[in-house]
Amino acid sequence: MRKPIIVGNWKMNKTPSEALEFMKGIEEVLTGNEGADYGIGAPYVDLDVCVKNAKNLIIAAENCNEKDSGAYTGEVSVPMLKEVGITYCIIGHSERRTYYNETNEACALKAKRLFADNIVPILCIGETEAEYDEGKTADVIKTQLAGSLAGLDASEVARMVIAYEPIWAIGTGKSATKEIAENCCKLVRDTVKSLYDDATGESLRVQYGGSVKPDNIREYMACEDIDGALIGGASLKVDSFKEIIDATK
Ligand code: 13P
Repeated sequence: MRKPIIVGNWKMNKTPSEALEFMKGIEEVLTGNEGADYGIGAPYVDLDVCVKNAKNLIIAAENCNEKDSGAYTGEVSVPMLKEVGITYCIIGHSERRTYYNETNEACALKAKRLFADNIVPILCIGETEAEYDEGKTADVIKTQLAGSLAGLDASEVARMVIAYEPIWAIGTGKSATKEIAENCCKLVRDTVKSLYDDATGESLRVQYGGSVKPDNIREYMACEDIDGALIGGASLKVDSFKEIIDATK
């Protein structure tokens, strides 16, 4: 049985004092909820305050560098995240792929480095609207997975979280139907099975992301191959994130 995992992605939102306010509010309502993993992906400068105030929430970074240290101005390494107490890290988000040229190869290196410090990568993949319209979704998913998982062992991939986030559904309010989301999440699992083996594909957790809200989370969670969600806008307010948590208890 795969344990569901619901993670908010704050993106470039919240100062440390705003992060603290959110943590205090959300931790009150999370107490005693052990049926699923719940987490927040936060900007680097918020991570320390989030970790220190997290009792039941997983705290994830939104990026990392694959190198340990050196002359890479503005970058943050995995050992730095480790020391702050980070246990999950989002990699390959479409915004990073689009605006900062994060490639599948970079994702593979980041994932390998994260596993070396026992931090679980949340790898994001997904097609653009044009690729969707041209019927290329399956090809995009397979190519992104083959490239981003290169060099990872089955034991690593089995522990990973992969978020299928169609770019046309991110921040648009145009969420994928549950059929599209389920088919694509199943394709993610089947692709991992063919790249590795059945047990690895059955073990890894696959999330859907893209305009997930309190009023549609239940239908995604009812799908067989969807083990959770990666949530942008609806994770920014305690009330809406709490509603999502309540809907998945
Ligand atoms: P929204 O939930 O705001 O569409 O964002 C999804 C996302 O990009 C999560 O990583």
